[in-house]
Parts: sequence; structure tokens; C-alpha cells
Amino acid sequence: MRASTYPLVDADVAAALVLEHTPVLPVERVALGEAVGRILAGDLRAPADLPAFRASAVDGFAVRAADAGKALRDVGESAAGRPFAGRVEPGTTARILTGGVVPDGADAVVMFEEVRIEGQTVTVPADLRAGSNFHRPGADVKAGERVLSAGTQLGAAELGLAAALGFAEVEVHRRPRAVLMSTGDELVEVGRKPGRGQITDSNRWALLAALREAGVEVQSLGIAPDEPVALRRLVIDALETADVLVTSGGVSVGTHDLVKPMLESLGTVHIGRVKLKPGKPFTFATIRAPLPSPLPEGERVKLAFGLPGFPVSSLVTFEVFVRPALRKLQGYARLQRPTLPVRLGYDARATADRTEYQRVTLRREGTELVADTTGSQSSSRLMSLAGAHALVRVAPGDQGIRAGSIVEAMILALP
Ligand code: AMP
Ligand code: MG
Repeated sequence: MRASTYPLVDADVAAALVLEHTPVLPVERVALGEAVGRILAGDLRAPADLPAFRASAVDGFAVRAADAGKALRDVGESAAGRPFAGRVEPGTTARILTGGVVPDGADAVVMFEEVRIEGQTVTVPADLRAGSNFHRPGADVKAGERVLSAGTQLGAAELGLAAALGFAEVEVHRRPRAVLMSTGDELVEVGRKPGRGQITDSNRWALLAALREAGVEVQSLGIAPDEPVALRRLVIDALETADVLVTSGGVSVGTHDLVKPMLESLGTVHIGRVKLKPGKPFTFATIRAPLPSPLPEGERVKLAFGLPGFPVSSLVTFEVFVRPALRKLQGYARLQRPTLPVRLGYDARATADRTEYQRVTLRREGTELVADTTGSQSSSRLMSLAGAHALVRVAPGDQGIRAGSIVEAMILALP
């Protein structure tokens, strides 16, 4: 073993440094059907009012409020998509269906249930109010109004809104492409029986899920051997098409830990160790695609994350460093997980020199959320993260946080 030459970087400083080096990916126009889950690149403004015309909210009769209590002559019909061509003059009315245009002359709609019909004569109630039972132009959205902000993720309602306003395509950021590999001679493919001293590669599956959940296209490269020449070749080839490299393992200081030297030889290692628990060996580098490159200048910088091998360390460092960067690449306005105040249901012990992210489950108690520890916080124990609802950040020192204290927890899922 040799001592690491990398300085221990404060966890917040490291997180900021990663984001500083992370670009926002370029913009592309995509059809609405391809835009689900994508991030809007610019504000979306309404080109016109919604609704565009006075639209009936009910099935009934279009009337003039001044004709309240009168027997009116039925002169026609305004159905959805088939407007009435004439006017509603004093003493007349037109049948109208939900979504139909309120004809000129009319200033109210009365529901079918409220009128009496005898042949062509419709007797309307004595208390008609102008403006009732129809939607005014621009009542939902005014022309020129900003309806969606840049950085918003497009879900069902947002895409429906875009369609309602006539946008067949939207401008979104390109999705990041990541390549993922595990390193370690001790690893075997899941499903194969590990021999003596071997373990199943679980990190790749955990990280594959984490990357996909974060909106990334992932190419999984399998298990790389602890062999520098082969590893370097694999990474160079993979990065030709990818924006992000994620590796697990091989970042501690043992002689077989090859990821740092490999990244060092390809680019710039910005972070080689972090004051973080779990996840001290977290490594971050940027690699510039060599010239000549088919990529435009803005897309030549690739991010490389060397995540620690211990399963919890790899996922916690993913949460703290990688996920915000993936969101920045995609153009999200909000990079961080939401936080909520929670009451600690246990004494959170601090680690002297490292920021600790402790895994907790949440339960409701009255109006509060109470956080319970998931048990042993060992970096190999995935059970500490499986089913966890939140991460509680404990600052370095000898203080810790007493049970009963309220802290802002980083929410992964609500109970
Ligand atoms: P390393 O960072 O390569 O020294 O790995 C530290 C420890 O993490 C190893 O001893 C393994 O127990 C574990 N580990 C490494 N890679 C994986 C993996 N892909 N899946 C599960 N555990 C792993
Ligand atoms: Mg290893």
C-alpha cells in the first residue's frame, strides 16, 4: 500500500467543484411523444389565449341574460366543433353543447335541467346571470403568458399543456450518455456462482438503475479487469460516444487500484479523496476528447466519476456528486433532491473528520416526520440503503445530533 497523494477535499467543496466542471448539454427539438421526462430548454410562452373562444362549460341553451324568465324561440344549435352561424337576438336562444362556441349576442348559458321545453319554445329561469356557464377566452392561459419555465421536467400535464397551445415539438436538452463499468478481479457476473474469494458484481446493477432513474442513457460495459492497459483501452473507446464515465471500485490506495492513474493519464483528476462517509475514495476527473474530434467544442469535455467499490459508498457518492451533475447536464433548474424537516428518532453520532450521510427511514408521527436509523451504517451493508427514505447529513466533529432534534433531510422517497 502507498499513501494517497490526493488531498482530502471537503464534501461541499467537492460537490461544488463537480458542478463547476459540468456543462449543460446542447438543445434539440423533439416531437411531444419523445419529450416525456425531458427538460425544457427555454421558457414556453403561450402564442394565443386558451380557450381561444367563449366555450360552453355545460349542455344547455345560449341566451341573453336580459331575457331572464321569458319563453324564447329555439333558433339553432352550437355543438363542439360546429358553431352556430347566426346570432342570438332578443327573444331567441340556441341549443349549445359542452365545448360549443357561445354564439354572438348571447351572454350566458343555461343548463338543460333548468329550462322548460315545449316544441320550439324554451322557457328560461327568472334569475339569469350574464357570464354564467361558459369559459372566457384567455381564462386558462393568456396570450404571451409564460406557461412553463426553462429547466422544468416535462410530465403528463406539461406535455398536455404544450399540445393545447399548439406546440408539436419542444426544445429540450440532449440526454446524457453514460458508460458504466465495474472494476475488480474478484467480481463475477450476477447469476454465476462466485468461486473462493470472488463476489458478485452488484454495483453495476445498482448504478445502472441510479443512472436510468436520473434520466441517462446507459451503456453497460461489464466487468473490467484490474489490468491497466486493457482498462485504459476500454475507457478510451467508450468515451468516444459518451458524455459520462462511471466506474466502481479501484479507487482506494491498494496496488490493484488503477482507476485514478488511468484517469490521470487521460485527463485531469480534480478530486481524489473526499471528507465524506461513506465514500472517502470518490474520484472525479474531466477528460477532453482528443482532437481531431467529431464533437463540437462545447461537447468535448467528458466527466469521469470513479466511485468507490463498497456498495453503499458507490450509491451515496452517486447521490451526493453524480446525480446533481447529471441533472445539470440535462438542464434541470433544480439539481438537488428536495429536503424536508424531520425529527431524529435516534442519536446521530458524528465522524471526527468527515461529513456523514446516514441512511434513515421516515414515519409520520402527528404532523411530523420522524427519522429512524436503518441500522449498521457499514459501507458494505446495502441493507442500510435498501428501503431508506432519506439521507441525514451529519457535520464532522465530536458533536453529533441528539435524538429529538429537527434536521433537514435529503428525501429519496416518502413513506
Ligand atoms: P475497491 O474500491 O476496488 O477497493 O473495492 C472495495 C470493496 O468493494 C471490494 O473489496 C468489494 O468487497 C467491494 N466491491 C467492489 N466492486 C464491487 C462491485 N462491483 N459490486 C459489489 N461489491 C464491490
Ligand atoms: Mg478493487
